[in-house]
Amino acid sequence: MTTTADASREAFNRPAARFTAGGLDIRASALGQCRRALWYTATEQPVTNPTPPESLTLLEAGNALEPVVVRAMRRAGWSVTPADRDEPMSVTVEAAPGLTVTGHPDATGRPPTKGGAAAAVEQFLFGEEATTHETDEIVIEVKTRGPEAFKRWQTLGGERSHPESVAQAACYSLGLYGECRDVVIATLDTGSRTWDHEVIPAKRAERAWRNASERLEGLAEHHALHGSDPVTLPERDFTASDWQCQRCPYLNLCQPGGAGEAEDDAELHEPVSDETARAALREYEQAQGRIKSLEADKRGALKTLQHWLQRRGVEKARLDGSAKTRTVGMVQSRRYSVDHTRLNALLEPEQRAEIVTEQVSEYLRVS
Ligand code: SF4
Repeated sequence: MTTTADASREAFNRPAARFTAGGLDIRASALGQCRRALWYTATEQPVTNPTPPESLTLLEAGNALEPVVVRAMRRAGWSVTPADRDEPMSVTVEAAPGLTVTGHPDATGRPPTKGGAAAAVEQFLFGEEATTHETDEIVIEVKTRGPEAFKRWQTLGGERSHPESVAQAACYSLGLYGECRDVVIATLDTGSRTWDHEVIPAKRAERAWRNASERLEGLAEHHALHGSDPVTLPERDFTASDWQCQRCPYLNLCQPGGAGEAEDDAELHEPVSDETARAALREYEQAQGRIKSLEADKRGALKTLQHWLQRRGVEKARLDGSAKTRTVGMVQSRRYSVDHTRLNALLEPEQRAEIVTEQVSEYLRVS
């Protein structure tokens, strides 16, 4: 006998790709996956690099927090109807001939209707050029992200940071309403446990869906040409050093030896023993302790100087230091902030890419 719990498990654990009577069906949450990896899944190849338990725990923790986002949205005045977790509603959309995408919308709803920030949201959603009407329900795609991914999403916008999520929401909109409406991506920062949302206007959501569909069309063509052949493979979308490959369950099948590539890099350097690393860590800890105590001394001295200035009733004064006479004075600093939510809602992703650029630097963190 199949229970609702079984049905729910089956719905959420469906393979990322599978063959159907009509062609190929892709899971909506796998829209951005490597096409070769999807082929391996559809042809039921054995997994060579299973997901480590800690990644599964992270994934499950993320899923478990989704209802928390829904409750937070309700407290902020949103009207939200979450999916029934035991019997989630399934939608299937035709992306191209011989290619369907199937998934389960997280939630649907409406933004708050009163003034202030809520009114601003309304304006983005239902401005003059909007195709979505005020009374329309829209798709809300709920995500949880670590602090860095959350910041990146807020700053760059969903279409640049996680285009597959936007395409996924657009797919649900098409499946539920027969048209691509505005969609909302609501995200929880698992570090600070704060949440934020982004509205993607219908036109842009539709474009994300088109881009994702066109990319997967190649896979449907491969299927039309070669049938369900597990040996004839589509091209790789990534290389061994990409994180997608490093986390791919078929890495050893696709790129035998690929798993060692990142380690090979490290081997170019002199090997460092565990004992040397532990000694380096202890040195780092001692240095950190000294820095903290020096910082406390510096703060104390600055506080004294500030009181001295205030007593004299001046903004600035000269004072003899140990090697030279220095100026002690109050300065004002001004910070400017950009409302990325508004910016992302107002500009096309291409325009944003010219304004908000991304630089990646690498450093070692000890926590
Ligand atoms: S190892 Fe990389 S290229 Fe190969 S299937 Fe996986 S993600 Fe694609």
